[in-house]
Amino acid sequence: MVYGLTGGTGSGKTTVANYLTEMGYTVIDADVIARSLTDPGSNVLQLLAETFGEEILAEDGSLIRKRLGDIVFNNKEKLQQLNDIMGPSMDKAFLKALNDAVLERPYSKVFFDAPTLYESGREYMVDKVWVVAAGLETRIKRIMDRDGLSREQVLARMANQLPEEEKIRRADVVIYNDGTLEDLRRAVEKALK
Ligand code: ATP
Repeated sequence: MVYGLTGGTGSGKTTVANYLTEMGYTVIDADVIARSLTDPGSNVLQLLAETFGEEILAEDGSLIRKRLGDIVFNNKEKLQQLNDIMGPSMDKAFLKALNDAVLERPYSKVFFDAPTLYESGREYMVDKVWVVAAGLETRIKRIMDRDGLSREQVLARMANQLPEEEKIRRADVVIYNDGTLEDLRRAVEKALK
């Protein structure tokens, strides 16, 4: 079984992914895949530079992720272009990682940590979806503390994501993360059972 792991910013996905890794499960990280696809000299990065301009590249040819992020932020058309470029390579890399995981541990659950699983229309890639959720104020505070952002910056980031209620509605399993880290660990163990 392949489980998608998703949720809004500050919900605690990465924390859940870390627990699952500690417990011995394979967690395929969509952000790690995206980064590896945009290594200097890669075809994907070249296509991104042709589409969004050379200004997304640093002098050493590496991607300035923040600049690309600023270009697609709040721009549906550009975000779509980015997804069209990244999508096929992401799918291929995900399937390869999944294949490796299954060969290594044939009967284990595999998790796909994908913050934008729903937004990118990738839920068909997994069998079931776990959504990590937490109250809005809790999430805002966590991200302000973690990333040193203002409340407005966190809200702007959230505005680009599918609302949490929508994710909860579409989830197979919801892990509520409003308590302590110990509560979260117990919720993960319960979800696994
Ligand atoms: P993003 O999508 O923005 O990366 P995320 O959903 O992956 O967010 P995490 O990075 O797991 O969220 O959590 C955000 C912050 O909140 C982290 O600093 C994490 O340590 C902290 N955190 C998560 N859950 C709890 C909790 N139950 N109690 C206290 N702190 C928590």
